[in-house]
Amino acid sequence: MKSLWSDREAAEYKGDLGLRVYTSQLLGRDPSLVLHGGGNTSVKICEQNLVGEEEEILYVKGSGWDLETIAEAGFAPVRMAHLLKLAKLQVLSDSQMVNELKTQMTKASAPAPSVETILHASLPYKFVDHTHADAVISVTNTANGWERIQEIYGDDVVIIPYVMPGFDLARVCAEKFAAEKSDRTIGMVLMNHGIFSFGATAHESYERMIALVDRAEVYLQEHHAWEISPPASLIRDSETRLEIAKLRSEVSQVAKFPVVLSSHADEKSLAFAQRKDVNIISQQGCATPDHVIRTKRLPLVGRDVKAYAESYCTYFAEESAKSTQSVTILDTAPRVILDRLLGLVTVGKSAKDAAIVADIYEHTMEIIQRSQLLGGYQALPASDIFAVEYWELEQAKLKKSGSAPAFTGEIALVTGAASGIGKACVDSLLKRGAAVVGLDINPEIEKLYDRPDFVGITCDVSDESAIANALDQAVKSFGGLDILILNAGIFPSGCRIENLDTATWQKVMHINLDANLILMRECYPLLKLAPNGGRVVAIGSKNVPAPGPAAAAYSASKAALTQLMRVAALEWSSDRIRINTLHPNAVFDTGIWTEDVLTSRAQHYGLTVEEYKTNNLLKVEVTSRHVAELAAEMCGALFACTTAAQVPIDGGNDRVI
Ligand code: ZN
Repeated sequence: MKSLWSDREAAEYKGDLGLRVYTSQLLGRDPSLVLHGGGNTSVKICEQNLVGEEEEILYVKGSGWDLETIAEAGFAPVRMAHLLKLAKLQVLSDSQMVNELKTQMTKASAPAPSVETILHASLPYKFVDHTHADAVISVTNTANGWERIQEIYGDDVVIIPYVMPGFDLARVCAEKFAAEKSDRTIGMVLMNHGIFSFGATAHESYERMIALVDRAEVYLQEHHAWEISPPASLIRDSETRLEIAKLRSEVSQVAKFPVVLSSHADEKSLAFAQRKDVNIISQQGCATPDHVIRTKRLPLVGRDVKAYAESYCTYFAEESAKSTQSVTILDTAPRVILDRLLGLVTVGKSAKDAAIVADIYEHTMEIIQRSQLLGGYQALPASDIFAVEYWELEQAKLKKSGSAPAFTGEIALVTGAASGIGKACVDSLLKRGAAVVGLDINPEIEKLYDRPDFVGITCDVSDESAIANALDQAVKSFGGLDILILNAGIFPSGCRIENLDTATWQKVMHINLDANLILMRECYPLLKLAPNGGRVVAIGSKNVPAPGPAAAAYSASKAALTQLMRVAALEWSSDRIRINTLHPNAVFDTGIWTEDVLTSRAQHYGLTVEEYKTNNLLKVEVTSRHVAELAAEMCGALFACTTAAQVPIDGGNDRVI
């Protein structure tokens, strides 16, 4: 493990809190130390308050912040004097503790202090760093982990047996630390949880963390428990699109809400899923309590989702009977699936959740395999994990979380998504919580957004194999398809029928009509599996009910597309697939309205471009955003009882009315 400290970078951070920010970010940069909100850091600073008193304040990581991106505002300032008094209590419920921490802050707008705040306060050092380092956990999570930690660190660390995070852990740490620390002590190892380091400066505390974790890494290497040798051969399957979508449908059924599935058939994941002992080594429990909420206690091995749900119910019944608090069961769906052919598949209420679970489990696979090489992975007993999974603080958080956006857990595909109406549809769907796949012939689509719930794929929709590849990629990324927005289309420059050449006609038909037939046909098996029923919205045109001269190919293609939608509505209604069509007119912020087309159409009606843009009964300018918002709403609850509708969005047109 290498130190990432740089004097040049450090010089840009001012004061103790500034350097606290810097080294916290350094820890956050290494995913083998902390992942997604895991770990926490603090610094103790003396300040003068408004009434002129000197107060010692603990600045500790606030909840909702990741170390990698933390700023000064991410640290919660809490009065040390009160924290030290709390640390001496014999009993304090975790809800009471959270209340005490919040009410002892000196800044009302700061985030809630970490649940490990009292632990940070009771360690008598200015800077305290805490991580869930993979290497340390790989050692602690073995049968004789305690002895191995002693062997690695000697008197340099105090070892704490596993205690659930919260007040009890803080109390045990404070007692054991006071009793066992020596002049040599530079850290503290928490069995089955992680490691603390501390120091007089941010630099010292950080370097000690790196040095301590490095010793665990070297130990693993020396015991031939570092390199995970790949299996001799891997079985691979290319025909997985429908299998993944079926799996998602079953997981959603058990969860009782639509979920996103993220598939990882990379070498490491397949190798783990194809290990002969995967059924044993993956069923021991989580690497650190921090992971339980995201990954649940155990992964599903194979695809029997119902059996998993039943065994989860048994686990809940057994453990909740022993528990002192009354708890209600969470959904029974798995979060991690290990399948011989699909590799690692992770489940989330959103694409972001599924991505976080994947990150965590990629590290877990490494930890488990290294622990195996060291003599055998051994996680916490089910009851300890249950206590974290059904922790009163987590339960309170669940009750508090308000209603999710309408399309949470759903997946949408939009064609022609790089600009205009298509891009606006991407935005409207993302805003409603959907994971979105954008297709466009323009490669810029791949860079449209860098976020876990968007995938942009360069795709010529008139190419059947390109569509198949795009759907494979979409399903691998998110698990299936709920919403299809058929938007891609071309609008050739004006041309009367007597001058219309066959090639132009065929090209327009090919893209505006044939491509949509192929998309519909290929998406059908996926839409059929959509947990809340599939939805298709086609972007038609005002030209369908009210054609204009010199646009024969375009008008005919959109009319045929509309008819295709009507037939699809008839055929697919029994599969709960709703199909609706929008007829926009004069939407000028789109790719097809080049300056030339706009001028020639305006001239045709004897209008200026400005008049032409608002040439409708309501005298409004119809934008891509208007069309996209209606398209998205048509996939939602408002249109739950509507299929085969054709809705104009044109500012009112007397020829359509
Ligand atoms: Zn921790």
